[in-house]
Amino acid sequence: MNYRDVFGEVLADHHESPRNWGLASDSQVRENGFNPLCGDKVTLGLKFRDGQLESCTFEGEGCSICMASASIMTEMVQGQPLSKVSGLIEGFRAKMQGEDRPDVLPADDSSEDIVALYGIKRFPVRIKCALLPWTTLKKGLETHHA
Ligand code: ZN
Repeated sequence: MNYRDVFGEVLADHHESPRNWGLASDSQVRENGFNPLCGDKVTLGLKFRDGQLESCTFEGEGCSICMASASIMTEMVQGQPLSKVSGLIEGFRAKMQGEDRPDVLPADDSSEDIVALYGIKRFPVRIKCALLPWTTLKKGLETHHA
């Protein structure tokens, strides 16, 4: 079974060429996430400026879904106001867990990347893999505000 055939070109590409890989040395917050179901580990490096998430880098060790999700997430949230980042996190979580939150949902037409991630819903045991980077980012924002 070929990964490309099962999960599609977009996720395969992010898995093979992760964006924003490598923790920025001047990260202000480093946050670790762990998914015991699959063994996924992710570490995010976050930099903040003027109420925005200036940069979001990551490293990790985990399944292809988790790594692709982290790569897509970093691209979506970088340079965004923190309020919007929180909304994207909540919207993605809600979508993956089947809740109706159109108020905060990353729109289907916002990128083909997010649509590809939504497709992971077809594999319920992998939803936690896709969510891990996002829940880790949520914890990172809380650490920043603490
Ligand atoms: Zn996983």
